Amino acid sequence: MNRHDLFKRAIALFRAGTEHDREAVSLLHRAMCGFQVHPAIPAWIGWAHKNGRGVPKDAYTALMWYRRAVKALRYNDPNEAWIKERVQRLEAQNPQPQPTPNEVHEWGLGRVKIKRGKQYGYRLHDTYAEVTLTEVPMYDEALVRLWKLLEEREARREKDLLPALLDENLKRDYPLFELRIERGRGEQFSHRKEGIRYTLITPHATRFEERITREAIIRHGLRLMKMAAEEYLPKRLKELSERVGLGYAHCHISHGNKTLGSFYYKSKDIDLSYHLLKRTPIQVDAVIIHELCHGVEFNHYNEFHYTMERYGGAAIAHADRHLYDHHVPTEI
Ligand SMILES: [Zn+2]
Repeated sequence: MNRHDLFKRAIALFRAGTEHDREAVSLLHRAMCGFQVHPAIPAWIGWAHKNGRGVPKDAYTALMWYRRAVKALRYNDPNEAWIKERVQRLEAQNPQPQPTPNEVHEWGLGRVKIKRGKQYGYRLHDTYAEVTLTEVPMYDEALVRLWKLLEEREARREKDLLPALLDENLKRDYPLFELRIERGRGEQFSHRKEGIRYTLITPHATRFEERITREAIIRHGLRLMKMAAEEYLPKRLKELSERVGLGYAHCHISHGNKTLGSFYYKSKDIDLSYHLLKRTPIQVDAVIIHELCHGVEFNHYNEFHYTMERYGGAAIAHADRHLYDHHVPTEI
């Protein structure tokens, strides 16, 4: 849905009754994102505050939003007399600032705790997000910013082929790592492990359509992938190192999704990324042999490929050369 559609849907929801007010306000918040705001959007958020529709009834916050709408009038249609009239009426009442609510539950986003501080910031937790606002007058501006941020993040991920489902049917079947999801009875995320299959158990009250929850699922999914990597990769590295007779000092599990492996000439340490768990076993072996070969051949000149074939064989050398031919999701 583009911004115009979000706005139209929000107004339709307001008009249909009070049942979906919170959803309507959230849609307005989403429609707000951007530099040149259409004045009708902040004006409607102001209206919602004035009337307690989906947000606390708060004349002061309403006035702040109306003022913002007036500012936006300069860039847009200057004939919206109704906005100006509302501002004047509220100015006359001289509403006083109200304390910022500590917590808001935004439809489609999740639970957001709001703090005041010196610098704008946010932190994503498993079941809520914490936003620190500076002295921005409208506390729900925090939600607007958080929406924008998470929306952009998700769009980037979609471009990077994040497999679509992040709900109770989530299913990842990589050769070395499987992920499932299950709704638990508790309040926290936990997991269960059966072989290479990890089941992420969500808090009982999880709402999969909320963006804060989706972020938590990705974060925990990656954590489980890292656990699986810590179990598999160092063991496999040791095996292959002994088999081909190329040594190394220590193995670390890294998180890069572009660089799957690194060899450190000075320390002889090898880094292997846990994103390798989304690859096939032969590709994993190819990366491991590749890094081990750097112990005898520093560069990637022709000699390197002969070294790869010598220690790994033709199939491994081939897998190594074609490692990046197919795109692999950058997340879970
Ligand atoms: Zn290399």
